[in-house]
Amino acid sequence: MYRMIAEMMRKVREVMMLLLYLLLAMFSRGLATHSKRTSSGESPVDTAGYCLSWRMAVESNNMMGWRTIPTQCLRHVEAYMMGGQYSRDINLIIDQIYTYLDTIPPIGDLDSGDGLDAWILDVDDTCLSNLYYYQAKRFGCDPYDPMEFRTWALRGECSAIPAVLRLFNRLLGAGFKVILLSGRDEEALGQATVDNLVDQGFVGFHRLIMRSPENRGQGAITFKSQIRKELMDQGYRIWGNVGDQWSDLQGDCTGNRTFKIPNPMYFVP
Ligand SMILES: [Mg+2]
Repeated sequence: MYRMIAEMMRKVREVMMLLLYLLLAMFSRGLATHSKRTSSGESPVDTAGYCLSWRMAVESNNMMGWRTIPTQCLRHVEAYMMGGQYSRDINLIIDQIYTYLDTIPPIGDLDSGDGLDAWILDVDDTCLSNLYYYQAKRFGCDPYDPMEFRTWALRGECSAIPAVLRLFNRLLGAGFKVILLSGRDEEALGQATVDNLVDQGFVGFHRLIMRSPENRGQGAITFKSQIRKELMDQGYRIWGNVGDQWSDLQGDCTGNRTFKIPNPMYFVP
């Protein structure tokens, strides 16, 4: 009897050990699947984390002079731009502009009454979206091609960024002069740009200032600083300045407040 019980206990131990071994095998296989490496040698979790860090570095202007987005971030930037987060980010920024506008006395109450209270808005990827152009350029994985961009811009098919169009109309309604300042070449793209803006609802801007022949070759900071300085010399007060590039917002006479619209697809020096 005692020998039978001992034999049963031994068999139970063997079965338990076998079960434990099977469980361990399943667990380690699960771990291996979870940390499966991509061809770049990084796990999907690593890549997603890297691309978030990369985009944060771009938006905070800690990464300068980059020509293309990292290839492994193509899907990340695509998901950001097309999946709704880009629009949510812009909406939040425009809400911050509205909060700031609420702190400014109504233009009619200001002593000056000279019609020189202004806002400056950039055009490309601030008022008008080039998202469909950049979709064909793998969201910035392909390097900037000035001739191809010119062909795209001449078509005048950029769509308005809805939240910025609402801001534009609110600024006009509040009595500000809205000045659009663009690095586009005036000779080549002036008429197409005006037509595209008006077609998309940007009606009533005070001025559209673009790059004239003497501004060709200037960096955006130099060109836009020079224009803003001229405007201030003419008496304009720049209450706010909105752009998708840091070069829209740096340099001289930047305005009382600057607001950066996100753009992880390209860098304009
Ligand atoms: Mg721009």
